[in-house]
This record gives sequence, structure tokens and C-alpha cells, in this order.
Amino acid sequence: VLRVNHLKHVFGSGELAVTALEEIDFAVEAGELMALLGPSGSGKSTLLLCISLILAPTAGSIEIGGHTVYAEGWAHRESRRLRREKIGFIFQGHNLIPFLSARDNIVLALELNGVGRRSARQRADELLDYLEVTHRADALPGNLSGGEQQRVAIGRALANEPPLILADEPTASLDTERGGRVMELLKRIARERNSAVITVTHDERMIAGFDTVRRLRDGRLLVAEEYT
Ligand code: ATP
Ligand code: MG
Repeated sequence: VLRVNHLKHVFGSGELAVTALEEIDFAVEAGELMALLGPSGSGKSTLLLCISLILAPTAGSIEIGGHTVYAEGWAHRESRRLRREKIGFIFQGHNLIPFLSARDNIVLALELNGVGRRSARQRADELLDYLEVTHRADALPGNLSGGEQQRVAIGRALANEPPLILADEPTASLDTERGGRVMELLKRIARERNSAVITVTHDERMIAGFDTVRRLRDGRLLVAEEYT
């Protein structure tokens, strides 16, 4: 579902230029669970932002579901459509809309994808059930625990069943037990829905059970290890 080709990203220019990514090449299959590790500043978030077609790289290309997007094409309508239809993004922490209930955060994501209100509500309730937060469906994000917010954010990313789910440190603000449960949930999603999941994490303990572990150091990928 995803192929990254010779990706390079440089922030700024001249003396202040920071090369955040260089010579990045890898592919991810449908249903694959990939962990992306690396020290702070190694380029993990930059890579996810490029893959999500939010941040245009300096060079290279990204292939999603058979469509190839080059740096020049990032802002085009076609890439906006790919972003909306093919990718679910779970940002770190509080990215829910604060004045909408848990359910309506998911309903809105579906409506933005052209789903009618009635089916969106039904679909949102199924997701909340799947994520075991049905009892908090009408609560505002500010009144949910960190783990509950994170599950609602996952629900929103999953709403239109994207083949590719990207998560930037989804467990960062959670304790070990809740973090473990969020990771389990992402694994279950990859298995049950055959979606590819790429998760950034700092925490080596979280990577058990992942199919692939890739490590970034100074903007470059180290060896890929296959986990069984
Ligand atoms: P962390 O684990 O701390 O989140 P990271 O691996 O996600 O780190 P990135 O955020 O991808 O790291 O940053 C990679 C490099 O690019 C760093 O050197 C960072 O300072 C730099 N960088 C990131 N965003 C910008 C920006 N908007 N402008 C300039 N430099 C940036
Ligand atoms: Mg980061």
C-alpha cells in the first residue's frame, strides 16, 4: 500500500538548513504493522508528515495505493483526495475538536468524506463500541481521560476505513498500561481490517508483536529487522 522512494527533506535554506531526512527508501504491505523508532530529532515526525502528504519533501516520491506523488504534486487535488481517502492520521495527544462530543468528532470526519448524517452516526456508534468508549459517546474531549481521548482519536482516524494508518507517538501521554492497550488496539486493527499501520514510538517495550521495526538516526534509516 505504501512505497517511499529516495525521500529527502530539508527544513529552511542556506546556513540555517536542517536536513531532517535523507535517502529514505522502504515499502509497507497491506496489513503490515510497522514501528518507527529513533532518538529525538531523528526525523520520525517529519517522515510521517511526508507520508501523510501534509509536508512536501525536498526530493523523492511517495506511492500510495498505486498513485505516485512527487514533491511538486503535493498540493494538487489528487493528493488531497489520496490524503482524505487512503490515510488515517493519529497525532500525538489532544487533536480532537474540543466543542464536539466524542461521537460528533467521528461523525464530522465521516461527513467530510461525504457520508450522510444518519449513516455517519450509525458508523460512529459502531466505532465507539469497537473501541470500548460507548459510555462516553456524548462527553466532550476535555472530560475524557487521556486513554479515552486517544481511542476516540483512533476512531476518527479509522472512520472511513483507510488502508494506511499513521500514528505519531500515540501512547506518549499515557501510562504503561493504557499505552499498552492503545498499542494492542492498533495491532488488532491491522489484523482485523488488513490496514497497514505505522506507529512512531520512543518506547522499545511497545514494539513486541510488530511485523517490522525500522530505526531512524540523523535522518537516515538503519537496518530493517524483521520480527516474527
Ligand atoms: P521527537 O522524537 O523529538 O519527536 P522526531 O524524530 O520526530 O523527534 P522531527 O520532528 O522529525 O524529529 O525533526 C527532525 C529534525 O528536523 C530535527 O533536527 C528538528 O529540529 C528539525 N525540524 C523539525 N521541524 C522543523 C521545522 N518546522 N523547521 C526547522 N527544523 C525542523
Ligand atoms: Mg516527533
